[in-house]
Amino acid sequence: MISPELKAAVDRLAEEHRYEYEAAAHEIFLHPEPGMQEYHAVRYLTGLLKERGFRVACPFGGLDTAFLAEYGEGGPRIAFLAEYDALPGYGPQKDQWGHACGHNWIAANAFGACDVLRRMHDEGLIRGTICYVGCPAEETVGGKVNLTEAGCFDDMDAAIQIHIARGHGANLGNTALAMNSIEFIYAGVSSHAAAAPERGVNALDAAYLTFNGINALRQHVTPDVRMHGVIDQGGLAPNVVPALASARWYIRAADRNYLDELEKKVIRCAEGACLMTGAKLEWRYFENRYDNYVRCPELTAAFAETLNLAGETKVLTEAQPASGSTDIGNVSRVCPTGYCELGVGNEDGYDVHEEEFLQYCDGPAAYAGLDKAVRSQAYLAAAICTDQGLQESLRAFKMELKRGNVK
Ligand SMILES: [Zn+2]
Ligand SMILES: [Zn+2]
Repeated sequence: MISPELKAAVDRLAEEHRYEYEAAAHEIFLHPEPGMQEYHAVRYLTGLLKERGFRVACPFGGLDTAFLAEYGEGGPRIAFLAEYDALPGYGPQKDQWGHACGHNWIAANAFGACDVLRRMHDEGLIRGTICYVGCPAEETVGGKVNLTEAGCFDDMDAAIQIHIARGHGANLGNTALAMNSIEFIYAGVSSHAAAAPERGVNALDAAYLTFNGINALRQHVTPDVRMHGVIDQGGLAPNVVPALASARWYIRAADRNYLDELEKKVIRCAEGACLMTGAKLEWRYFENRYDNYVRCPELTAAFAETLNLAGETKVLTEAQPASGSTDIGNVSRVCPTGYCELGVGNEDGYDVHEEEFLQYCDGPAAYAGLDKAVRSQAYLAAAICTDQGLQESLRAFKMELKRGNVK
């Protein structure tokens, strides 16, 4: 995996500078910002990275609060995926923003890993390019989707992230569903619902007939599929035939290609509803399209070893059933991606996004996990930089991704 000399260098540097990484986690924790408005975090992080000699491009990939900071030259190019957006609804009045998903901690562990690796590069221990990629708005639109579509990960040999989690152990078995968000807009004709119903075309009928169609479709899809929607416009008064209705749907499946086929059937349900009612249909994606998360076996295995090396004894590598969707999925279909969720050891069962989890995203428990995250990622990157066999398998996997052979 990595030589004792490299491991010792990571341990020495991570220990010498751990307070800088903790300070970064703390600073961002104190300044929670909404997605796409993470201006303080971006100023602060790009400042730290520039001071340390990183070349910074910001804005990046067409997003104001995205950036790329690079150190070193040539291959391999390794991307650390940082996040720094917060969530609303905390504090006594539930009106404050907070880092209850620990993205402050992700920003800091990626910073720590990049800083350790840059120092190792200066000491002549590794070669390659260390890339800190600032990825905005994970909780809302999924900024990594925009960055992926802009080609920001095309030249990366690997992408790495460790997300904070509740409880104990590291989970490399995460899988995520591909997801399309579809808005249907139905245009009908209004009329007096009692005096002249025959003159009306009922847009709301078209919306709920679409629900009926999709509910019938449920019987004929694979078990991983999730289809859930709401009607957000459906008329204003019961005595007026609704001339406008709209519904928003999330359609999810474990495989992007299957999802694209399924989407056609879902749209046909809406078209059928319009045929029945006479309403006119328009549809659009109202959010980014998320891809399923593809795991790279060799990178997962190497990551498990480096987590062990960092002192994590409980590392889960088997694929888990997917529940949600994440913008890391899109990155994983372009370059080999290692995504880990690392427990910070809380025993009380509180989970990310809960008010009570805020205490684990900054402070002693967060910092103990931070050190583990910094070292395991630095070991992994050092392994990628020095292990020819691992480089070869990452290259082969990336080629398979490009050819569309990996689901
Ligand atoms: Zn979250
Ligand atoms: Zn999160």
